[in-house]
Amino acid sequence: MEESLHTEVPGADEHLSLALVDSVSRAGRGGRHDELGTADAVRVWLLARDLIDPDAVLYEYCRGRIVQLRDDLRDLFEAQVGGHAPSPGAVHALNHALTSAPGVMLLRFEPTMGFIRSADHPATQVVEHVMALIAEDAATLLAGDEASMLASCEADGCEWFFLRTHARRQWCSTRCGDRVRAARAYARKRAALNAEMS
Ligand SMILES: [Zn+2]
Repeated sequence: MEESLHTEVPGADEHLSLALVDSVSRAGRGGRHDELGTADAVRVWLLARDLIDPDAVLYEYCRGRIVQLRDDLRDLFEAQVGGHAPSPGAVHALNHALTSAPGVMLLRFEPTMGFIRSADHPATQVVEHVMALIAEDAATLLAGDEASMLASCEADGCEWFFLRTHARRQWCSTRCGDRVRAARAYARKRAALNAEMS
């Protein structure tokens, strides 16, 4: 299960923003895999993190906005890890996500259900609400004590971020660590073979 891979990435369980950034481009057998490739995949991803109701409907438009937020978060994470300034657009987008969440749930009376609270545009509300939660998590992470622990995986082809839970950790997961070790062993073997043959 692709989903379970995240549980071994330090920080992905605690930080929605980290989990979102890591939902893309896991290189490996069968090519690259985007966990948010379709609107339904986005629904499953959000549902697995209790961010939406089971009956919430997500559209391609919603997927586009979440994927855009993911790109902006990657920009911010890369700036933090690389020690350079983020693009102004990414900061603006994050702040927009933080502030545009509908704060007011209106009171309605439905004859069959009695009083309920809901927003004017439920479909839009779902994605705005989710984006605000993820943006809040990102802002907390980037401006907090854990920011210095944020790191990008050093394995070839891996674009995941993780929290460096101990100083020497270079890889997002044991899977990447094993992959790098295997590649190094293979390179050594080839070098030895080449030396023998020459
Ligand atoms: Zn990795």
